[in-house]
Amino acid sequence: MSVLERITSEDAIALEDKYGAHNYHPLPVVLSRGKGVHVWDVEGKQYYDFLSAYSAVNQGHCHPKIVGAMTDQAQTLSLTSRAFYNDMLGRYEHYATNTFGYDKLLPMNTGAEAVETALKLCRKWAYEKKGIAENDAQIVVCENNFHGRTTTIISFSNDPVARTNFGPYTQGFLKIEYDNLEALERTLEEHPNVAGFLVEPIQGEAGVYVPSDGYLAGAKALCEKHNVLFIADEVQTGIARTGRLLATCGDCSCADKHCSGVPEVKADILILGKALSGGAYPVSAVLANDTIMEVIKPGNHGSTFGGNPIAAAVGIAALEVIKDENLAQNAFELGELFREEMNKFIPNCSVVNAVRGRGLLNAILINDTEDSSTAWDICMALKENGLLAKPTHGNIIRFAPPLVMTKDELLDCVSIITRTLQQFDNQ
Ligand SMILES: *Cc1c(COP(=O)(O)O)cnc(C)c1O
Repeated sequence: MSVLERITSEDAIALEDKYGAHNYHPLPVVLSRGKGVHVWDVEGKQYYDFLSAYSAVNQGHCHPKIVGAMTDQAQTLSLTSRAFYNDMLGRYEHYATNTFGYDKLLPMNTGAEAVETALKLCRKWAYEKKGIAENDAQIVVCENNFHGRTTTIISFSNDPVARTNFGPYTQGFLKIEYDNLEALERTLEEHPNVAGFLVEPIQGEAGVYVPSDGYLAGAKALCEKHNVLFIADEVQTGIARTGRLLATCGDCSCADKHCSGVPEVKADILILGKALSGGAYPVSAVLANDTIMEVIKPGNHGSTFGGNPIAAAVGIAALEVIKDENLAQNAFELGELFREEMNKFIPNCSVVNAVRGRGLLNAILINDTEDSSTAWDICMALKENGLLAKPTHGNIIRFAPPLVMTKDELLDCVSIITRTLQQFDNQ
C-alpha cells in the first residue's frame, strides 16, 4: 500500500495493531488533520481536542506562526549538533531565560530527558556545592508522580504498570506523600544528604491533583532551610496551561501574561517540555541560575538534537504566541467558566462527583470504581458527540483543550460534555 493512498480508520488501526508495539491503548479514532482547537479523523469528522496531546498543543494545532518558523528554519539549517555553534540557539536561550527569569537554559528534546537532566544537575550540584559525600545524594519525590518513562524515572514511580519488570532500579530517591508538608519536613530533617525535591505543581497524570494553598511555597521554604534544590516539573503545567505562565506562579490573581514576575515559588530548577514547542517539535529545557548550572562542564551532558536550530526557532515562536495571544489570561478565564458551568451541572448528575483543576487543566471524577469502564465509555460517547478526551487513572477524565479556544467554543464543549454525561445518568 502506498503511504499516500487514503486509508480508512479501520485499516489504520489494524496496521498499528499488527506492526506497532502495543505500548498505548488509544481511543479508536484516527486523526489526519488539526487546526486550532479542532482535529479531523480520516473520514472527515470534526472533533474538539480536549487533550491537546497531554498539554503539548497549548497554542492550538498547526499554529501558523509556529509552523512558519519551523518550515523556514527546516529549509535553512536543521541540525549542526553542538560540536559547532548555530545562529539560533543563543537567541532562543536568551529569549527563554528572559521569559522565565533564569540565568541559563540547557536544551533537550523530550520531557523525560529534561527530568533526567535536572536529576543529574541536582546531584552534581550536591557533590560540588553542597558537599554531600560521593554517591550519597538523595532526591525526594512524591507518591503518584509522573515524570516520564526512562529507567531512572520509573525507578521512583509507584505505578506498577509503569514499573513492574523493568528493574533493577536506580537508587537515590526518597518517596513521600504529595501535598504533605510535614512529610517533607520530617524527611529533610532525617536525611541531611538530600540534594533536591522534585515535584509537579499539579499532578496531571495522577488525575489533576491540585495541592492545598500554600503547599508549594511551604515546600520551597523547607527546601531553602535545608539547602535543598526545589525542582519543578512543569512539563505539563507550564506554558500558560493553568492560567499562568507557570503553575508555580501561584494565586497572584493577576492572570497577567507576564505573571512569572510575581512567583509564589521560584523553582531552583525548572523543567519544561510539551508546549515549549506548541506540539510542533520535540523541545524540552532545564532552566537554572548560574550558581547551579555552572557545575555542568563540557562533556558532562548532551544530546545530538538538543538545541538544534529548528527547535530553537520553534521555541521562540511558541513562546511568542503565548504572549501575543494572551493565552495565560484566556486559560485563566475559560478555566473559571468551565468549572463554574460544570459545578452548576454536577449536583443534578449522579455520574459525576466533582470537577477540579486550574486554568484549562481540569478533570472530572466519575462516580464509579477505579476499575470500572465508565470513564472509558464516557470518552467513547464524547467522541461520538465530537469531543476527544481520555481517562487518566481509572475513573478520572482529564479535560485540557488548546488555550486558543474562544468562550463560545468552550460553552459549546460544555454542552457536549453535559449532554453526554446525561446519557449515562439515565442508564
Ligand atoms: C509528559 C510529562 C513528562 C514526560 O514528557 P515526555 O516528553 O513524554 O518524555 C514529564 N513530566 C510531566 C509532568 C509530564 O506531564
